[in-house]
Amino acid sequence: MRIILLGPPGAGKGTQSERIVARFGIPQLSTGDMLRAAVAAGTPVGLEAKAVMEAGGLVSDAIVVGIVADRIEEPDAKRGFILDGFPRTVEQAKALDAMLAEKGIALSTVVELKVDEDALVGRIANRAAETAAKGLPVRKDDTPEVFRSRLEAYRAQTAPLSEYYAKAGKLETVDGMQQIDTVTGSLMGILERHAETAGA
Ligand code: AMP
Repeated sequence: MRIILLGPPGAGKGTQSERIVARFGIPQLSTGDMLRAAVAAGTPVGLEAKAVMEAGGLVSDAIVVGIVADRIEEPDAKRGFILDGFPRTVEQAKALDAMLAEKGIALSTVVELKVDEDALVGRIANRAAETAAKGLPVRKDDTPEVFRSRLEAYRAQTAPLSEYYAKAGKLETVDGMQQIDTVTGSLMGILERHAETAGA
């Protein structure tokens, strides 16, 4: 199963991805996590990405496509994967299509978590407060100001992907404003259907 989870920041992609990982035994490939690890490790990619991420912008397609191309070659991704936070531009989606075509593999489906964007700022404030309460470090880009920039980047650069995948006949949508478990139920229903078709 090769799945893309689409949706604005704070839509619940990370939470739902963890559940898909547990259910289907495929890895979650989060470009945000990979970039944060690169920043923490101070690698050349991390040094280049740091300021853009802190401002809530998008890291260059070349960097992100390179990271994903390497990651999907890892043995654990051979049986499938769930992409969380990638692609984020039509350019990245085209690069992914080319990567998969070269390997002779196809995407199973793209699921978009539809959410009311006005509710997202509140969700992110909660995420930051809950993380802090657990004594864990809060993401620097989870402040209301930076979050608004991330949402803006989503609207301008990532939202067009819905149409891109709808035209390709790959897009499914789930109401992401439901209770977390209900979202998981809807999502799993869609994925089970694709798993059967794929014989996974
Ligand atoms: P996320 O954890 O998915 O919210 O990503 C956090 C930040 O990492 C984003 O605000 C971007 O700055 C950067 N980032 C993550 N994935 C991508 C991507 N596919 N393309 C460009 N920038 C990305």
